[in-house]
Amino acid sequence: MKCPMCGVEVEKLEDLIDHAVCFDLDEVNMGHLTFKTERPKPKTKVWSVWNFTTRELIGRVSWGGSWRKYVFFPYNDMMFDEGCMRHLADFIELQTKIHKKRKDDGRIRDKAASGR
Ligand SMILES: [Zn+2]
Repeated sequence: MKCPMCGVEVEKLEDLIDHAVCFDLDEVNMGHLTFKTERPKPKTKVWSVWNFTTRELIGRVSWGGSWRKYVFFPYNDMMFDEGCMRHLADFIELQTKIHKKRKDDGRIRDKAASGR
């Protein structure tokens, strides 16, 4: 598979964690979907999800507190085919992994800074 933003070939979805910068852009396109960063919160993010072709608003992705991961909130009566659902699933899975990696990296940095 390819990074949808820079086009670099990767073996599996997991490898895209190294493309966190690509997924940090204000607009990320995956297949027929566009993810737009809405209001960056200090710790987690919110994206609106648009149909790339029809420019229709499909829903949003935000942090699901009790799930401890990013989740998708569809707008009423929206239809999705398997391709859309895969892209949605890939996007939220990846953003959760990037979020957790950053948290871990931060923890390691904090430990190093405090000399422990
Ligand atoms: Zn990339």
